[in-house]
Amino acid sequence: MKWTKEKINKQKAYFREQRKDPTGKFTEFVVRTYYFLYKICSETENRMVRSNVTYRKELIDFVYKGIYNEPDHMAQSVIDDCITNLKEMSYIGFRKISDKWMIYIKSNLDFLLFGEHEKYLETLNITNDFMAENDLPCVDKTENNNTLKIYRYKKKCYKCGNETDILTYITYSDNLSESMVYPWDKRRALNDQDIFAHLSDPSIEYYGINVIGDIESFDKEMLALYPEQIAIRYSNITKTKYPMNICSHCGAIQGKYYVYRDINTYITQMKPLELFAEFNKL
Ligand SMILES: [Zn+2]
Repeated sequence: MKWTKEKINKQKAYFREQRKDPTGKFTEFVVRTYYFLYKICSETENRMVRSNVTYRKELIDFVYKGIYNEPDHMAQSVIDDCITNLKEMSYIGFRKISDKWMIYIKSNLDFLLFGEHEKYLETLNITNDFMAENDLPCVDKTENNNTLKIYRYKKKCYKCGNETDILTYITYSDNLSESMVYPWDKRRALNDQDIFAHLSDPSIEYYGINVIGDIESFDKEMLALYPEQIAIRYSNITKTKYPMNICSHCGAIQGKYYVYRDINTYITQMKPLELFAEFNKL
């Protein structure tokens, strides 16, 4: 069962109290579990670790080191309890990627004493440039990401040469309904990279993202909202009909393949896109 806000606050107050004046071991176990995960996440390309890490013997050894020499049969349930606390208090998060649950570091422990965080980083040899997801620069923390974001950029029409508006959503392949927001999380988009496409055409990364033309329900929505700019047309590349952008000057189609290419470039170059509109997802 999900913890209530009240329970989270109570637990945080308890942890803070325990750091100042420890009467038990559990808080230290929680902190150690957190930093063990922190260490592994800081060393992986996508800043995540498979959730079965919680069964690793090294984790138990690290958590119990110097406290109990021989972890007893209860050790695994203690670790599980630590994980539950960290998860419910949003210090770590779980994300499903290609059918596997991954753990990532969501926010810093905010009940530690002054200097403790640095001490753990030093002890575990963690480089300073690793950051909890919620502490990444420029990420809008109030963003709950319940909306589908529509971005706009200008593109030179291949047919008439004039600049026309392109509208598109950008969502992640690992979560079709989650809008990508600036600053672009390249590493996450690279997780589901189309590596074969990239190898045969290295001019773009082929990030694991969706743009207009990829997700039917969102396309329908855009078609209804922007009938002047979006229309169902036949594409010679995909040999199918789907909603796509239309040049406002000559009516030529601006198919999804080209939009996908443009968005890849925006992400690679870390260039922001204009947020044109957003609407609630169903
Ligand atoms: Zn045109």
